[in-house]
Amino acid sequence: MVLKKTQSLCPVCLERIDAEIVEEEEGVYLTKTCINHGNFKTALWKGSGDSFLIWDRDSENGGGPGGDLSKIRKGCPYDCGPCLVHTGGICVALVEVTHRCNMKCPICFASSPKDPASEPDIETIKHRYKIILKTGATPPLQLSGGEPTLRDDLPEIVAAAKDLGFEMIQINTNGLRLAEDRGYLSKLKENGVKVLYLQFDGVTDDVYRAIRGVPLADTKIKVIENCSNVGLGVVLVPTIVPGINDRQIGRIVQFAKQWMPVVRGVHFQPISYFGRYPQAPTDTERITLPEVLNALEKQTDGEVRVSDFKPRRSKDAHCAFAGFFVLGDDGALVSAFSPEVRVTAKSAPAVAVRNFLETYWSPVPKRCSCQPCLCEMDSVPDELLNWVQGHSLTISGMPFQDVWNIDLERLAGCCIHVVTDERLVPFCAYYLTSISGKRLYN
Ligand code: SF4
Ligand code: SF4
Ligand SMILES: [Zn+2]
Repeated sequence: MVLKKTQSLCPVCLERIDAEIVEEEEGVYLTKTCINHGNFKTALWKGSGDSFLIWDRDSENGGGPGGDLSKIRKGCPYDCGPCLVHTGGICVALVEVTHRCNMKCPICFASSPKDPASEPDIETIKHRYKIILKTGATPPLQLSGGEPTLRDDLPEIVAAAKDLGFEMIQINTNGLRLAEDRGYLSKLKENGVKVLYLQFDGVTDDVYRAIRGVPLADTKIKVIENCSNVGLGVVLVPTIVPGINDRQIGRIVQFAKQWMPVVRGVHFQPISYFGRYPQAPTDTERITLPEVLNALEKQTDGEVRVSDFKPRRSKDAHCAFAGFFVLGDDGALVSAFSPEVRVTAKSAPAVAVRNFLETYWSPVPKRCSCQPCLCEMDSVPDELLNWVQGHSLTISGMPFQDVWNIDLERLAGCCIHVVTDERLVPFCAYYLTSISGKRLYN
C-alpha cells in the first residue's frame, strides 16, 4: 500500500526522481526508479504503516526561525541556502572548523576528499558565523570537523562565537585530546563552550574496535571525568550499527544515568551510509527509528518506554525522537511528560518543576526540537535550574538520511544546517554522496 508519494534522488546520478513510501508485510520502504539506473528499494521504518503514519500525526512546521539565503534555480535539493520553500527553520548550525582528524573511522559522514591542509582560518570561521546571523537567529552552534580539538586555536574560535552572541556553543568530538589535556578543556569551557557532543558508541572496547578500529572505552570515561572536574556538560552520541552495538542501547542509558549530572543526554544516531559504497547497503545493515525505540524500552526493562518519546516538531516528524527524563527518588528515570510523573525530590517543589517542564519541553521542546538542549533556561530561577540540570537526562535520536532513503519533503523540513562560506545547507544534503562517493555539495 502506498503511504505517501514524494521525491528522492538516484543513488548513481544524483538526479531528482519520483519515489513512493510503501507499506509491505515487513515494514515501510522507500521505492524509486531512475530511468537510467534502475529500481531502488530501502527500508525506512521496520514497523507497521500505521505506526509510521501516527508518528507523523502531530507534525507541523517547527525548528525556529528560517532564512532565505538562496535563489531557486534547479529545485530541491540543489538550491540549499536555505531557499524560500524550506520549511524547517534553523535549530542547530554546524560549522566545520577543520578537515583533519586523529582517527580513521570507516563510518565517518564527514570523510571526504577535501585537502586536510585547507583548514578555514579564524576570519573565515567568523564570516560563517555572520552567515548564520544573516538569518536573524543565533541558534545553538556546533563546532565540528574532522576533529575540532586538533586546532590549538579552538578556544579563540569559541570566544569569537560568543562575542557575536552565540550562547549555546557545542563541540562535536571523539574526545581523544580532551581525555589527556585538561587545561585545553578548561579553556574551552572558560571561553564559552556549554556542552560536548561526545562520540560514544558503547561501554565496551569490542564495540570501539569494531566501529572505530581502536579500543576507546577508558578514553571516553576519562573525558567524562575531566568534564565533571571542569563543570562541562556532556551529551553521549552513539552511532548505532546493527549487530555491533544495538544490544548496548540499554547499557548506554544506564551508563549515562550513572554519570548524571555531568552527562546531560544521549543522542542516538542509527548508522547512515555516506561515502563510497561498492553496492547498496542491505536492509539488515540498517536500524530504523522504531527499532531504536523498542530497544530502549526492552533493554531498560521498561524504565523508559516507547510512549515516553515524542516526534520532532516539524513538517515531517520522521527525523527525530526525544524523551526528557528526571531521576526519581528511587533512582529510576521517569518521563517528565508521563501523567504519573513522580518528581518528589526535596530540593525543588514538584509543581514548579512540572510547570517548568511543560513550559520548555511540552510536548516537544519549542526551539531545539531535534536535539533538546537547555538553551532557554536563563529566565528560570537558579535553584530550579540547578535542580533540573542535576536531575534530568534527555534521550534523543536522529536517523540521518542518505542517498538510498532520502525523502526530499522530509529534507525540506530539516533544521540542522551546515554553514558554508555562502549558505546554510541541510545536514543530510551537505554530506550526501552518490554510490561512487560524489557529493551534492563541495
Ligand atoms: S533542502 Fe531546503 S533549502 Fe535545500 S533546496 Fe530543498 S527546500 Fe531549499
Ligand atoms: S539532518 Fe537529516 S535527519 Fe536531521 S533533521 Fe535534517 S534532514 Fe532530518
Ligand atoms: Zn540515475
